[in-house]
Amino acid sequence: MKYESVIGLEVHVQVRTESKMFCSCGNIYGAPPNTLVCPVCMGLPGVMPVPNKTAIQKTIAAGLLIECEISKFSKFDRKSYFYPDMPKNYQISQYDLPFCRGGKIHVGGRGFSGAPLPNKIIGVTRIHLEEDVAKSTHMGRYSGIDFNRAGAPLMEIVSEPDMRFPDEAYAYIEALKEIMQYARISDCDMEKGQMRCDVNVSVRPEGQKELGVKIEIKNLNSLRSIHRAIEHEIERQKNVLDEGGRLEQETRGWNDDAGETFLLRKKESAHDYRYFPEPDLLPFIADDLIIDEIRRSLPELPAKKRERFVANYGISEYDAQVLTSDKNLADYFDGAASKSSNPKSVANWIISEVLKEINLRGMAIKDCPVTGEHLVELVDAVHSGSITGNSGKEVLSEIFLSGKKPSEIIREKGLIQISNESEISPFVDEVIASFPSQAGEYKAGKAQALQFLIGQVMKKSKGKANPKIAAKLLAGKISFKS
Ligand SMILES: [Zn+2]
Repeated sequence: MKYESVIGLEVHVQVRTESKMFCSCGNIYGAPPNTLVCPVCMGLPGVMPVPNKTAIQKTIAAGLLIECEISKFSKFDRKSYFYPDMPKNYQISQYDLPFCRGGKIHVGGRGFSGAPLPNKIIGVTRIHLEEDVAKSTHMGRYSGIDFNRAGAPLMEIVSEPDMRFPDEAYAYIEALKEIMQYARISDCDMEKGQMRCDVNVSVRPEGQKELGVKIEIKNLNSLRSIHRAIEHEIERQKNVLDEGGRLEQETRGWNDDAGETFLLRKKESAHDYRYFPEPDLLPFIADDLIIDEIRRSLPELPAKKRERFVANYGISEYDAQVLTSDKNLADYFDGAASKSSNPKSVANWIISEVLKEINLRGMAIKDCPVTGEHLVELVDAVHSGSITGNSGKEVLSEIFLSGKKPSEIIREKGLIQISNESEISPFVDEVIASFPSQAGEYKAGKAQALQFLIGQVMKKSKGKANPKIAAKLLAGKISFKS
């Protein structure tokens, strides 16, 4: 039988804040185990939680960015939770009144395999805010637990079951990640557990309206494992049905080495969690004033930025894609391009030269010593012909070393391009005399011989001769030669 697969995602995103969700402990990754703890996040009796304002603002910001409706009235709830990674035996979460509802994420571009994807809108059911649990580590007969993460603010972003292929799930996560990183809501570093994913997968016979039996795969922590786990689970479910078996609602894990999912437990339903309103916290009322203030603080999203770069600066879609892949890089380009009369060249110089230099030095773009003003000046100098492109590269490397202004470096190094024919002429004569066979080849009609000869003129003039004038002189002199 032919089946259609249906995929929904629950993505947990750690919110970037200075302190935890309900106490003043630091929200820092990588501190020695159990050093960021206090009576509140350890769940000692008699303590009271105090909500983190920034975490709530960032959750609402996330909602606005993905076109959610922001709840005017929301509250926190207690979720019964009896696992050792939650010292209180309950987790403060949100049940029926989350901060955000009903958003959408635009996906497209390319899938995990690199195959192009059609544009599609994936619905977002809700975003709620909760506290993270501790991190457990299992070592043979022993288990260790680190409570540094317990109580850190964690958003759960629940999608509609709108995805049909593993590649769409991949694109959804990438799009979500890009938005969160751009808005500085989260760093979304999956290796650090800042973004974790539970996947719901079901299959149904093609043409059937009702959804199949939903099976959840828990705690996937890399894009690759998410893609593989979904792919495997779809095949597994199809096989069970084809063999006449029945699927049951359950929670499965993912074994990355074996490349297969495995049964963790039969699924709990919501009443097992016995949610009830958190008695120690007041409901939260978001009036228009609060929401508007957050709306004003939102950054321009990458997709909008790309459109603007293409329209205003005349750069290609591809270049816009490269330049918006990182917010700092986009700001860097935007700053320089807006002041330059040659924004397209600014883009080329950044993509081919600046990025090469910073990668070589293992540097981040925000630490790049070449400022926007430097770049504008440099591009102008090359564009106006006062220095050659090669000299421009030399100037750029020199800024990395000394941080001096391009005009200063051009003067000190004597890089001003020679465009005066009478100054270039002697170099041309010398080259024709030294390479008679290449000159002959050019005369006989071999065009690429001219490139070689121009190269020699450049070499003799230490890169300063204007190559266009060198070409003109070479061509003229060789043709007249008998
Ligand atoms: Zn604490």
